[in-house]
Amino acid sequence: MKKSYLEEYERALTPLTVIHEAARCLLCYDAPCSKACPAGTDPAKFIRSVRFRNFKGAAETIRENNALGSICARVCPTEKLCQLGCSRSGIDRPIEIGRIQRFVTDFESSIGMKILDPGAKNLGKIAIVGSGPSGLQAAATLALLGYDVTIYEKRKKPGGYLRYGIPEYRLPSNVLDLEIKRIKDLGVTFITDCEISDLTLLKNEYRAVLLAIGASYGKSLPLFANNKNVELAVDVLAKIKEKKGKIKLKDHVLIIGGGDVAMDVATSLKMLGCKDVTAVAREEMKEFPASKKEFNETIENDVSIISGYTPVKIKGKTVTFKHVSLNATLKIKADKIILAIGQMSKVEMFDNITSKRGIVEVNKYQTSDEKIFATGDIIDGEKLVVAAVKYGKEAAYAIHEYLEAKR
Ligand SMILES: Cc1cc2nc3c(=O)[nH]c(=O)nc-3n(C[C@H](O)[C@H](O)[C@H](O)COP(=O)(O)OP(=O)(O)OC[C@H]3O[C@@H](n4cnc5c(N)ncnc54)[C@H](O)[C@@H]3O)c2cc1C
Ligand code: SF4
Repeated sequence: MKKSYLEEYERALTPLTVIHEAARCLLCYDAPCSKACPAGTDPAKFIRSVRFRNFKGAAETIRENNALGSICARVCPTEKLCQLGCSRSGIDRPIEIGRIQRFVTDFESSIGMKILDPGAKNLGKIAIVGSGPSGLQAAATLALLGYDVTIYEKRKKPGGYLRYGIPEYRLPSNVLDLEIKRIKDLGVTFITDCEISDLTLLKNEYRAVLLAIGASYGKSLPLFANNKNVELAVDVLAKIKEKKGKIKLKDHVLIIGGGDVAMDVATSLKMLGCKDVTAVAREEMKEFPASKKEFNETIENDVSIISGYTPVKIKGKTVTFKHVSLNATLKIKADKIILAIGQMSKVEMFDNITSKRGIVEVNKYQTSDEKIFATGDIIDGEKLVVAAVKYGKEAAYAIHEYLEAKR
């Protein structure tokens, strides 16, 4: 049956199936799954609680370690992280850690559990620029430590790529809204629709500033400049999410790129009713960059995927590609051409911060300006939500350590 863009793609576990799945866990000592989670969510501990039917205890473990636990449950490429080294793989297949985490965090929401309590706000004021996962996690950690935190966000709503990138069928907006509400309940203030272009004022008003602006712009190639048929994948995905899927569709769409963002835009357009979507990737199939889960969803939605070709020319609506290793060319005509070839930041706009090709240079999250710290996609090219959570948490502790040393 054809799935809807507005419905969550992966089925949820039930109380019965979640206990059955947790019962497969080998309760490993020094568990590989827990070591592999960048955010320290501790799957071994919460799975053990589920196994003994202690859903509340499991929710506490997740929430105390990861302020975005129900988001990570949905968007983490678990096959490359916690599930990769799962000892159960030696017997049959890894434990479905992401799905167990989703069940537990859904349970937490369904009974309105309130796990984290706000701190006393007696350590002074901190500003965070950017409300993506890294800014959100940092805000939660700082608030719990006792800081009065304000997040400045240039978009109308907070969330970064969680709100304006990852499609609704993988991350429903109501799940994000609830995570943000939990952070607001910790006393964090959000000022949206407010682009920060100079850090001087914030530096004067706050004890420290955390830059968490992400790589929020899509990359292009000179070849495609000024062609009205070309759009950037992150802009298309943002439009689809903002309009809840109600966008004008073109019949034939060509996507250039083979990563998760390319798969997201391809699957979204197909789900919304686009007749024919083709994605052309530079990488050959053996090194295809998209995660297995996203690749499979794209195939299930009848997207055509061509690997090993790179674009060399565009004339009107026709793109010519050359094969990366064979002497072969390919021409594809489309009504819309979408570039999904990566994202970049515009951190150079802040002249007091040292950066190299969009990546901020940091020492323990501190930038070249001692009052300004940085986190998330702008300090690393890893570009995963769970990495942004880890960096956000660590950056918050780095700020705390710096401010405590100054007292
Ligand atoms: C389409 C798409 C799908 C993805 N899917 C996955 C996935 O399934 N799993 C996964 O783990 N990762 C995924 N990622 C990657 C992941 O979303 C990012 O790594 C993560 O969001 C980075 O977090 P961040 O907080 O550093 O930045 P962002 O999420 O980019 O947030 C930065 C925020 O800062 C704001 N901002 C920027 N400049 C300013 C300014 N000057 N003033 C005020 N605010 C500003 C932006 O508007 C934005 O809200 C995906 C990315 C995209 C684009
Ligand atoms: S590695 Fe797998 S089997 Fe071992 S504790 Fe983690 S989930 Fe359970």
